[in-house]
Amino acid sequence: MALVDALRCRECGRTYEISPRYACEWCFGPLEVAYDYDAIAAAVTRESIATGPPTIWRYADLLPVEEPTGALPVGWTPLVRADRLAEALGLGEVWVKDDTRNPTNSFKDRVVAVALAKALDFGLKTIACASTGNLANAVAGASARAGLPSYVFVPADLEPAKVRATAVYGATVVAVDGNYDDVNRLCAELTAEHPWAFVNVNVRPFYAEGSKTLAFETAEQLGWQAPDHVVVPVGSGALLTKIDRGFEELTRVGLLDEARVRVSGAQAAGCSPVATAFAEGTDTVRPVKPSTIAKSLAIGDPADGVYALDTVRRTGGGLVSVTDDEIRDGIGLLARTEGIFGETAAGVTIASLRRLAAEGVVRPDERVVVYVTGHGLKTLDALGEGVGPTATIQPTLDAFRAAFPTAQR
Ligand SMILES: *Cc1c(COP(=O)(O)O)cnc(C)c1O
Ligand SMILES: [Zn+2]
Repeated sequence: MALVDALRCRECGRTYEISPRYACEWCFGPLEVAYDYDAIAAAVTRESIATGPPTIWRYADLLPVEEPTGALPVGWTPLVRADRLAEALGLGEVWVKDDTRNPTNSFKDRVVAVALAKALDFGLKTIACASTGNLANAVAGASARAGLPSYVFVPADLEPAKVRATAVYGATVVAVDGNYDDVNRLCAELTAEHPWAFVNVNVRPFYAEGSKTLAFETAEQLGWQAPDHVVVPVGSGALLTKIDRGFEELTRVGLLDEARVRVSGAQAAGCSPVATAFAEGTDTVRPVKPSTIAKSLAIGDPADGVYALDTVRRTGGGLVSVTDDEIRDGIGLLARTEGIFGETAAGVTIASLRRLAAEGVVRPDERVVVYVTGHGLKTLDALGEGVGPTATIQPTLDAFRAAFPTAQR
């Protein structure tokens, strides 16, 4: 049984019964799921979790809905030690949480799994979303698996790979002539007209909870220890905020001894409203018009931006932004050092880690976890012409020897 009390307004604390709503009627603040932590503490142990499935549902007691039957396995992705990457950056203990290894190859499978399960609970039978790309893939895939129709709204300039990887599941793909913030506004209007579950609009409080599982898995995979520092890509800011919340909850229910995790955020310079606010020392996140190859993070007016900002400041982390060239370098660095191919968002994260290390914000004496949230095959075009054949030769030994005179024989 989900050990949930209510929905609670993050701003004024007013509570609402569990329902598909996302904003406080009183102050328009965002609603969050409120749990009965005493009941959870009494129900879960490290051992009970260990007997659960190798998916996000091993943490069902810390989620707002029970495991649905028949869903594709989501989560429990590898946490790999990244010594070569650490060495390249002058760091000590670095781990990569490889969330490319989910059913549709991004962490969005986690949030969609929780949102879809809750939508079914609510009796909503059409699944929809406003997406920067990966959410579209995840909604389309999970809806197909559940036998439900889906409507997916994306900016018209999205990467072709992400559009195809959505349409292939039979989703209705609506390309909107505008940026993500336009798409999101349209979807908020559509929720009033259609009895649909827009995973990141009217069921957003439940959707957001799925991101906590990245913290849960990290702690369990480290042998029930918290890292010292995590580096997280920031789009809407929900992922970063909920990873922090995940560690806090584990402490609260007695699964972790004291967790003091510093949380750092990563943005692309072409869309860095949160990093800019951090640098300027203000509490206001001013909306921007995105222009970056990291389209999955291209949210100019981030819903959880102020909360992400607050989390980073409170935990003593940093928040930086990196250029498109640095993003490409970051993708290459991770691939060459660790054999993990991430998308542009991963390039943002690795390049930001490099910057944070150079600035001394991430330190060599820390145990660091970086979140690689989407697969590189989704954003191949962003790599540009520089990544291709080393040489093109005739099919003869002479031709090979001429092209590679120093190759060992
Ligand atoms: C959506 C997304 C993010 C950011 O998540 P938010 O909750 O919007 O901050 C990070 N990485 C990838 C690959 C994404 O698709
Ligand atoms: Zn309120």
